[in-house]
Amino acid sequence: MAVFEYAPAPESLRPAIRERYGLFIDGKWASPAGEGHFDTINPANEARLAEIAYATPTDVDRAVRAARKAYEKYWRRLKPADRAKYIYRIARAITERGRELAVLETIDGGKPIKESRDFDIPMAAAHFFYYAGWADKLEYVLRAGREPSPLGVCAQIVPWNFPLLMAAWKIAPALACGNTVVLKPAETTPLTALALAQIIEECELPPGVVNVVTGDGATGSALVEHEDVDKIAFTGSTEVGKSIARRLAGTDKRLTLELGGKAAHIVFADAPMDQAIEGVVNGIYFNQGHVCCAGSRLLVEERVHDEIVVRLTERLQTLRLGDPLDKNTDIGAINSRAQLEKIQELVKSGVEQGATLVQQRGDLPARGFFFPASFFTNVHPSHRIAREEIFGPVLSILTFRTPDEAVDKANNTPYGLSAGIWTDKGSKNMWIAQQLRAGVVWCNTFNQFDPGSPFGGYRESGFGREGGVHGLYEYLAH
Ligand code: NAD
Repeated sequence: MAVFEYAPAPESLRPAIRERYGLFIDGKWASPAGEGHFDTINPANEARLAEIAYATPTDVDRAVRAARKAYEKYWRRLKPADRAKYIYRIARAITERGRELAVLETIDGGKPIKESRDFDIPMAAAHFFYYAGWADKLEYVLRAGREPSPLGVCAQIVPWNFPLLMAAWKIAPALACGNTVVLKPAETTPLTALALAQIIEECELPPGVVNVVTGDGATGSALVEHEDVDKIAFTGSTEVGKSIARRLAGTDKRLTLELGGKAAHIVFADAPMDQAIEGVVNGIYFNQGHVCCAGSRLLVEERVHDEIVVRLTERLQTLRLGDPLDKNTDIGAINSRAQLEKIQELVKSGVEQGATLVQQRGDLPARGFFFPASFFTNVHPSHRIAREEIFGPVLSILTFRTPDEAVDKANNTPYGLSAGIWTDKGSKNMWIAQQLRAGVVWCNTFNQFDPGSPFGGYRESGFGREGGVHGLYEYLAH
């Protein structure tokens, strides 16, 4: 009898990774001034993937100078429709190399391949497509009669949870408006930003229009402090965001901050319960909970609390945790040992403060950084797990009795990035949405994104918007 072998899945083909990466400055790959390098590893098995250049302040200065030169010499002078052609080219190249980028994102960051393949990479391409279309229509962004003009050199600093997507959110609108860019990816996930630099090279953008410098917080700090940077767009922790805001006070640099969150996810007793449970699962376990807008505080109406706990407990056991490259995996690897330890510490505090922990059963892989999908019941609003961003697959469940109490508890946080509401009453949905102090409110759904839809925070979640027309406003002088 003939034996048919399966062809290798596209995801199992290892993308070409260089042994060692330089910095992408002025259209060329350059060694860092200090000759320093650091490893980027696969968090699912702790294997080294590549050596990454560590950019010093001297390298940051070279990158900013290259961006300035490109701004004055080419980019701001280019006809907007011609800028659009380059941005479309990047979008098409991301689409063509989608599988390769998805594998890179997954091995460098730990997220399940089904998420990088079906969400991160297509959404990154969609942002370039969307903003390419805006490049020659900028006069419709500002008030009538105002001439759109770019800001100049933009420093863009991104975190590790959606590396390519965050880079796309920042680079695409900046370029469409005529700015040039110095991008700094996070230290644990530089590979897709470097692949994007290769794409930009292949798309023959004028040298210096996009520069990529790799490194850690000190590299980011040098970029923030560089005197020839006109705008800083930062996505990351609230703590670092606040320090940047303090350092920029009194300067004329423009700033947008996309920071942390502790979103309320509200479920009323009249909600379509099957869908709500799936929404809650997606809201917290998507990308192992490494999501700034994760629905990490579940507020359930008291009379359906027990039913929801039973259903969530059952659903937890059906989630598959393991190799992020397996396309059936739901829960991949935690991004780094440091992040795993932070999650473990906060979960320990939850148990010590008296909450009840429910976890997905089963052994964790022997190597790599993993944490089981988890939730807490008996959570008090003053517990650390109800107040601090855990940034892992851990949900805190609280209860409420009336819509007013739901609103009070939802707004009882220093953050204000996102929220979700589940009820079959349209008027209740609308009324609650208006009361919530959050940049995005999802009604009977969660984690829906679109390049045309703005995203951003209130209060300690930051200010400024990315996405949509609002995202362009942040890159134009006004
Ligand atoms: P982080 O603040 O530690 O680092 C983010 C980036 O800033 C990294 O590239 C890092 O190297 C750099 N950086 C660190 N210190 C710096 C400094 N002093 N000056 C300049 N740059 C510096 O955050 P993280 O742990 O990488 O990311 C997780 C955080 O990001 C979470 O709080 C999450 O909620 C937030 N986040 C927010 C959004 C949003 O859109 N609001 C999106 C994704 C992630």
